[in-house]
Amino acid sequence: MELYSGHINRLVEELAGLPGIGEKTAGRLAFHIIGMPQSRVERLAKALTDAREHVCYCQSCQTFTDDVLCPICANGNRDHGTIMVVETARDLAAYERTGRYEGVYHVLHGAISPMLGIGPGDIRLKELMERLEKEEIREVILATGSSLEGETTAMYVSKLVKPTGIRCTRIASGVPVGGDLEYIDEVTLLRALDGRTEI
Ligand code: ZN
Repeated sequence: MELYSGHINRLVEELAGLPGIGEKTAGRLAFHIIGMPQSRVERLAKALTDAREHVCYCQSCQTFTDDVLCPICANGNRDHGTIMVVETARDLAAYERTGRYEGVYHVLHGAISPMLGIGPGDIRLKELMERLEKEEIREVILATGSSLEGETTAMYVSKLVKPTGIRCTRIASGVPVGGDLEYIDEVTLLRALDGRTEI
């Protein structure tokens, strides 16, 4: 027997398919949405489809943006000679929130994981190497997480960067193992950045 109407079931199913949302939360959200004014539901639906349709990868750092270049890459006041390599756009946001990093970024959109079958070709590494060839880069800061995948990725990238002669550093550990950079407080992030060492 179906618990809810077909439409509600479908909505619950779609919401439950999102990361971090279980069946219970999906049900709660679905009923909340049904109770919302029609205009707000339409705004929500439009925000979803607009984001999916218009958001693209920054041509330089590969983060998500609405334009060819993201606001950070387009900003002439940033230090374009220092690239911080992060796993996700959310990690980039975490470092931006500290307000202290003046360089630019490179978002890999993942990390190397032999266990999950994610190889170097599955993340945006080729794009990073192209930047190192074309641009005047002084330092590459490896700020991938301290999980096994993050460490594997940092080692792999450092081996690619070293022969170029560009300075390659790794943020200090102290970032909890397997912790999502996004959830780490700003002081810890800054300490990890300041304590970076040559790799
Ligand atoms: Zn960018």
